[in-house]
Amino acid sequence: MESFESERASLPRNMIENSMFEEEPDVVDLAKESPSYPIESDDVVYEPRSSRLLVRGLGENDLDEDEEDYESSTRLLGMSFMNRSSSQRSATSSYTRQKPSGLCSMPSAKSIVVSVLIFVLVASLIMVIYFLPGCTFTRDGCKKANSTIDTVYPISTSGELFPWTELRLPVSVHPVHYNISINPNLTSMSFQGKVLIIVQVLQETKKVVLHSSDMKIIKATFESKEVKILEYKPWQQIAIKFPEDLKKGQYVLKIDYTANFSSSYDGFYNSSYVDTTGTKRVLAATQFEPLAARKAFPCFDEPAFKSTFLIKITREPKYISLSNMPKATTSNLNNGLQEDEFEKSVNMSTYLVAFIVAEFSGVSKNVSKTMVSVYAIPDKRDQVYYALETAGKLLEFYNTFFEIDYPLSKLDLVAVPDFLAGAMENWGLITFRETTLLVGNHSSPIDKQLVTSVIAHELAHQWFGNLVTMRWWNDLWLNEGFATYMQYRSIETVFPDLDIDTEFLSVRFRALAKDALNSSHPVSTVVSSPEQVEEMFDSVSYEKGASILLMLNATLTDEEFRKGVIEYLQKYTFRNTESEDLWNSLSQVSKQPFNVTQMMNTWTVQKGFPLVTVRRNGTEVTLTQEHFHLNAESTSHSSLWHIPLTYVNDSCGALSSCKQVYHLKDKTATLKLPDQVKWLKFNYRSEGFYIVHYDEEGWRALNEALSMDVNILPREDRAALINNIFSLSRLGKVPFRQVLNLMEYIRNETETAPLTEALFQLAQIYRLLDKRSELNLVYRMKSYIFDHFGSLMDSQSWKQESSVSKMTLRSALLEMACSFDRHNCTIQAKHIFDRWLASNKTNQIPSDLMITVFKVAAQTEDGWTTLLDSYKNSICDTEKRKTLEALASTQDVKKIILILLKSLDGSMIQTQEFPFVINTISKSLAGSLYAWDFVKENWDKINQKFPVGSFAIQSIIMSTTSQFSTKTHLVEVQNYFSSLGDRGSQMRIVQEAIETIKLNMRWMEKNLNTLQNWL
Ligand SMILES: [Zn+2]
Repeated sequence: MESFESERASLPRNMIENSMFEEEPDVVDLAKESPSYPIESDDVVYEPRSSRLLVRGLGENDLDEDEEDYESSTRLLGMSFMNRSSSQRSATSSYTRQKPSGLCSMPSAKSIVVSVLIFVLVASLIMVIYFLPGCTFTRDGCKKANSTIDTVYPISTSGELFPWTELRLPVSVHPVHYNISINPNLTSMSFQGKVLIIVQVLQETKKVVLHSSDMKIIKATFESKEVKILEYKPWQQIAIKFPEDLKKGQYVLKIDYTANFSSSYDGFYNSSYVDTTGTKRVLAATQFEPLAARKAFPCFDEPAFKSTFLIKITREPKYISLSNMPKATTSNLNNGLQEDEFEKSVNMSTYLVAFIVAEFSGVSKNVSKTMVSVYAIPDKRDQVYYALETAGKLLEFYNTFFEIDYPLSKLDLVAVPDFLAGAMENWGLITFRETTLLVGNHSSPIDKQLVTSVIAHELAHQWFGNLVTMRWWNDLWLNEGFATYMQYRSIETVFPDLDIDTEFLSVRFRALAKDALNSSHPVSTVVSSPEQVEEMFDSVSYEKGASILLMLNATLTDEEFRKGVIEYLQKYTFRNTESEDLWNSLSQVSKQPFNVTQMMNTWTVQKGFPLVTVRRNGTEVTLTQEHFHLNAESTSHSSLWHIPLTYVNDSCGALSSCKQVYHLKDKTATLKLPDQVKWLKFNYRSEGFYIVHYDEEGWRALNEALSMDVNILPREDRAALINNIFSLSRLGKVPFRQVLNLMEYIRNETETAPLTEALFQLAQIYRLLDKRSELNLVYRMKSYIFDHFGSLMDSQSWKQESSVSKMTLRSALLEMACSFDRHNCTIQAKHIFDRWLASNKTNQIPSDLMITVFKVAAQTEDGWTTLLDSYKNSICDTEKRKTLEALASTQDVKKIILILLKSLDGSMIQTQEFPFVINTISKSLAGSLYAWDFVKENWDKINQKFPVGSFAIQSIIMSTTSQFSTKTHLVEVQNYFSSLGDRGSQMRIVQEAIETIKLNMRWMEKNLNTLQNWL
């Protein structure tokens, strides 16, 4: 899935500063609890210690004593409280006592032995039998000698005991094949379904347990005999109990059911749009990842339960239906409807199943042995050709790169009018937002860069994710990190003009910023609850995952890396894996003198990344590594990474042939240089996931060299120096004065990557000051930026441009210039807008400058109204989005509130845009005051649309809170999320928000006064 499309430029990279905390922030620390290796799915049992409440220091016994926590936790954790003594449960609990399933220790045995009283002996035995737990919940057996725990089964909806006590399904029964018939009614907004599941009983059992959510089961049969279905709604599970053990073998389960279309963006949901004739059109589409296939049909909804699927869809003749596989037959039914039957699928996970019923039209072409098609609503039919060409080229690239042909005979890419994620990689039927697939006449190369990136990401998933799938969501990064890495790798090769390297560099910087927080988590993290699964779709899985793969690729040879990946894909085709399996495959082909598995485990099982400090004494260089941790108090534990340190120096130069590598595994090491050198630069092209600090002389030498000639280092290294020194200043390792010293070279800089990084860093500080209404410093900051970037801003062309790199730079420079009301900029922007209006919008605005021009126009009453009309009537989605961003940048309170309301209720602005709207509004001082209040007041409504923990919620929370820097705001944010109970404060993103505000406060305390002298 592509989550980050909407926030590419604006995912909050937090403005933070190091400083010590007086108190440990109340943050989630999953690292302490993460296992050395990912959990085996086959020994699955729910692992209560992974729950965040327990991680937060509440041991099991503590919880027993804490009634309030118990109550809220029961709802969050469900299962982990199954084992509790009944005395801890309230009378209204839906759980009931069950006989203990077995004994595993004899806590009072000693006392029993020494006892001389038979009465005591008998009494003790009774107590032991009565209170001891089963061993279900710990993988290491029962450790606690004094536990008083029972196995307790929940009560199903019908009042009977539900026969299963885990969030994860039992592994005794596997699905082999599904026949699914869906009959959607786009008028009544409901659907009927029939599912036939062939199951394989692997171990004798008296129960079959599977998932089902929000549906009404009409009838169920097992081997043609009607059976009773028990349902336990909190875990979205249903079960059938049998009086006798089912022997090993295959059985047939059939379930008939009905359900309403989902009202959120997951499951089988309906959507509508108004076409150019003013007619309302409806459609129905699916989004199952991660946990919503169960909303469309009863199924074993875990990625490791792979199976084949045969899907039939009934529809009115005016619609078409699409699914993963090519259509096999269409038959006319008696009631005037038609039924499409699709070919039987390959072996795949439930979250990849998809179907759509809509009035779409498409274009197709043959690529190798695959028919590639792109579909959109008829009004946008002419916007699909770029995607078709691009998908064809990328499919050929991946077929060659992976040496495994895409296994299906068709591949559909579909633009869905209302769609929350950026895109979803359903096998053979990839769904997209319209903005991430469609390219109109007015789209710029930057718009094409986005579309190309998303297609490249989703196509990579057809191998990484679909063909080979992570066993459980703890290793989501195997899907997402890899697809993200491959999207950059493929575009770099197939579309070199798109300047994707600069984009990937900023992705690495963003991942570093996120991972420097205590609220971050290891790439591989234990997850159990649905909220935890949702939370895995974050920057760490995607962006850090991609970053560490780049580092590994740069450390191996390109060919070793590719061969290792091929070996992995071939070995595990149609199967499931864990991180370890990938490392083992890469180890097998690597001829390098280090152990790939050992090296990579240091990057995936511990959170954070290292700071490498370089101290030079003549030709001797001392290297030290430590955890780069903005919350300095938490650095007590000694994390060590195996860092493939790369470096260049002036004696050879900055060509890649000059790159040298040193493997730093220990806390410190000494490196001997062959000769005296003037400067040393570590982390060549910023391909490693670490930050480097030099001694005073080291920084001075780099400064001096850069001020003489910026080209002594590649542009990525220059951008990384800027990024690293701002980060080091936040950590307190360098004074702000030193940051500004380095920035002096920027007047000679011409490259996009370092310039946009510098602008980004300065804008972060500017916004923080602006939100505090530090007017004097805001003014000085503006002057500083104009002093250093003003001439570059004024020299930018406003004409059509074809270089992506130049467009990226000028749009960043001009957007900032106009937002600071720089005279030259606003005059030009107004002029271009007036000319555009006068020509009845035929005199085109260069697409990359559209946001800048529209934002200036949106500050006047007439301009805003004109843009609103344009937004309502446009069918070009990239232009619409830019218009929306401009509309949301208004400083007028009434307009801000109107935009917020209209995007949440979906009446004028699609609800899918709500997180984007919130993000844009929060950037301005006026908007930020209302955005946070609006989120609080409408939290329930927001939650109905976007799942707790999802990236949409993550974005909404961080956008509205990450620029707070006062105690009042901190307390308010803390209190608000605490008041939400388990659906608020337990989210990792809330911990991140609180940590960020605390860091902002510290930064302000430390720098506010002295900033006057620095600027
Ligand atoms: Zn993805």
